[in-house]
Amino acid sequence: MPEPHLPLDICNLTHRFAKADDDVLYNINLALEPGEFVAILGPSGCGKSTLLRAIAGLVTPDYGCIRIGGEIVVASGREKRPAEARQIGMVFQDYALFPHMTVHENIAFGLTHQQTKMNKAEKETRVLQLLELIEMQNFADRMPSELSGGQQQRVALARALAPKPQLLLLDEPFANVDTNLRQCLGEQLQMLVKQEGVSVLMVTHDRQEAFALADKVAILDNCMGSAKIVQCDTPENVYQQPANQCAAELSGPALLLDADAKGLKAETLLGEITLLNPSKGKSKIVIRPEMAKFSKNTLGNAKVIARSYQGKNYRILCETEFGKVLAESNDATPPALGTVGLLNIDAPCWVLPS
Ligand code: ADP
Ligand code: MG
Repeated sequence: MPEPHLPLDICNLTHRFAKADDDVLYNINLALEPGEFVAILGPSGCGKSTLLRAIAGLVTPDYGCIRIGGEIVVASGREKRPAEARQIGMVFQDYALFPHMTVHENIAFGLTHQQTKMNKAEKETRVLQLLELIEMQNFADRMPSELSGGQQQRVALARALAPKPQLLLLDEPFANVDTNLRQCLGEQLQMLVKQEGVSVLMVTHDRQEAFALADKVAILDNCMGSAKIVQCDTPENVYQQPANQCAAELSGPALLLDADAKGLKAETLLGEITLLNPSKGKSKIVIRPEMAKFSKNTLGNAKVIARSYQGKNYRILCETEFGKVLAESNDATPPALGTVGLLNIDAPCWVLPS
């Protein structure tokens, strides 16, 4: 049986804007499996939107090749397929709904302006189906200005999904909704894309968003002015075994502790630590808050300067000789602010690859 085509396959993509000194994107390689949800996580301004725009056909990259569903859409700076013929749905960061069109008209727009084989009755059925899926049947005649941020986002999503694209691109889809709504919209999004069977590439600077939704997280690191993917793996692997400092810091709170490694042991200011990966000489060890345990001890040199209740236990921020460290409390009662104690690392740790 022939292999199914990858919904997205990017090879060696590089782009530089006119008059810029550096490449905004450098040698990007990324592939999506059918039905996969990949999140690109990177700091603001690193080139996330530019990458999505290149895939959608709104920016022509200078070098490299993009295949969508096995077909080359752009290669070596030449467009092979224009944006409207790429079978892509895109939700922009500000949603970009048409302000003069109703919710119904906005969703139907995707069907009239993309190449689709649906007749008029099928198109109407599809719009009604999407209104139901986003639970907005009663809002069909509203204008975008009469909707909340979360509702606008759902309409933008429905408009993008209407022509049944093989690939959905999401640009910071939750940036404009509050935290409570974010989780609820995230769950709806996850159900909707699985139901529709569409592959998704989302870009975000928010790790919680990326980790909550994606099957894989790709870290876009801004190395000396150019963005490069330094790791693409499951959320668990990115969190537990980050490829470099940027991946460690973007994927969660991390103390990067100096160490002198000898195989699977390392000497540090927190004592001897067991390592997950063998290493030699001067190294940086990744300490996540749940690996650092604080216990009250008048001889200790860590001082509690803040604490927050996490449901199961308290996360505490300590001032230490090597800076501020997030840890968890070992004691039955949470330590008061100003308490002095010892930090102890009780799990094997990951050494950043050099
Ligand atoms: P992100 O989405 O990660 O915040 P962008 O892709 O929007 O980042 O932008 C990456 C960099 O490219 C920024 O420095 C931005 O100023 C620059 N940039 C974006 N669009 C253009 C453009 N059309 N012309 C020139 N520079 C641009
Ligand atoms: Mg952006």
